[in-house]
Amino acid sequence: MADRSFLTWPFFEEKHRALAAELEAWCTENLPVNHDDVDAACRGLVTALGEAGFLQHSGGEALDVRSLCIIRETLARHDGLADFAFAMQGLGMGAVSLFGSPEQRAWLEKTRAGKAISAFALTEPASGSDVANISCAARREGDEYVLSGEKTWISNGGIADLYVVFARTGEGPGAKGLSAFLVPADSPGFEIVERLEVIAPHPLARLRFNDVRLPASAMIGEPGKGFRIAMSVLDVFRSTVGAAALGFARRALKETLARATSRELFGAPLAEIQMVQGHIADMALDIDASALLVYRAAWTKDSGAPRVSREAAMAKLHATDHAQTVIDKAVQIHGGDGVRKGSKVEELYREIRALRIYEGASDVQKIIIARQTLGG
Ligand SMILES: Cc1cc2nc3c(=O)[nH]c(=O)nc-3n(C[C@H](O)[C@H](O)[C@H](O)COP(=O)(O)OP(=O)(O)OC[C@H]3O[C@@H](n4cnc5c(N)ncnc54)[C@H](O)[C@@H]3O)c2cc1C
Repeated sequence: MADRSFLTWPFFEEKHRALAAELEAWCTENLPVNHDDVDAACRGLVTALGEAGFLQHSGGEALDVRSLCIIRETLARHDGLADFAFAMQGLGMGAVSLFGSPEQRAWLEKTRAGKAISAFALTEPASGSDVANISCAARREGDEYVLSGEKTWISNGGIADLYVVFARTGEGPGAKGLSAFLVPADSPGFEIVERLEVIAPHPLARLRFNDVRLPASAMIGEPGKGFRIAMSVLDVFRSTVGAAALGFARRALKETLARATSRELFGAPLAEIQMVQGHIADMALDIDASALLVYRAAWTKDSGAPRVSREAAMAKLHATDHAQTVIDKAVQIHGGDGVRKGSKVEELYREIRALRIYEGASDVQKIIIARQTLGG
């Protein structure tokens, strides 16, 4: 059993402890799932998480970031794909949860029940970190918008039922001329151009919009506010990426403790070698420091702070970078078995890497922290 003493910290209420216990029991019963067909696995996970009621936390007017983080941490500790399936229901519908019209919010009933899959389409081939450089465009024609351009690296691309797409509408230059749209996957002119394979497989695709016609009511929030909407969504969900990293790191420590206490070398368990103990101490310290930052950010947001850019950036940066270090130590302590295909720590080693790139690379988080620190 991974350390869960953090649940007694003052960041949490009784409802969080009850949620953690309920989810832990569900995970023990239902995870991990078979990953051979990731599309089928993700569809199955969304259905199962919906039926069990956990997706109720993924969207809606009152997003509780501590609940999101507890769910992501717990799922990631049991099965990275389950965390992915949950996370994308939240990120995909984040703009609708925060800014959607009553008509758009009707989709939330489906995504929160596990009956529809959502995606968040911001990145383009020429604008990853440079979000303001988006070229995908939506031009107004009467009561409609006509969407054209490409998006890439879109999680759930290929299996999603609806995509929240950020496009240039031209109210102003750069970041001031973007808007957000709700685009159902069956819209004529919508195309999956390419499925992308990564080291820790999950559904991912490059999308193209070939003059996709959308009613004006498909716009989320106000025209020209797309950048602000995207940043508000990331403000909520960035800490949860840190929480997922924390789950991976906790699992790596758990595997390491089992290994170090059972493997005999030089006539004694590996855990009796002081240098191994040093690694274990570093891992435990990194995990607790990350947990403090993740749940500080979540609690601050839940306590009513309008923006938590600095706290969320610190949580994501520290938790993802240090989870990488923790997992690397776990691989080292497992010796050859650590790099053996199919071993749990080998899986974690692949799973953690992308978290330091998406939703703002580590370097970008440093810029956010520095700006806020200098500005403050
Ligand atoms: C597995 C995976 C899933 C993803 N899912 C989604 C999704 O669902 N929706 C979506 O919209 N996007 C998604 N992305 C895209 C992701 O958000 C981008 O990959 C990320 O923003 C980086 O953009 P890029 O790949 O174009 O890299 P680039 O922007 O080319 O950056 C490359 C590197 O340059 C450095 N760098 C960039 N900018 C700066 C800076 N200002 N200062 C210092 N260094 C800098 C960083 O080290 C960065 O990693 C996903 C990506 C991956 C890998």
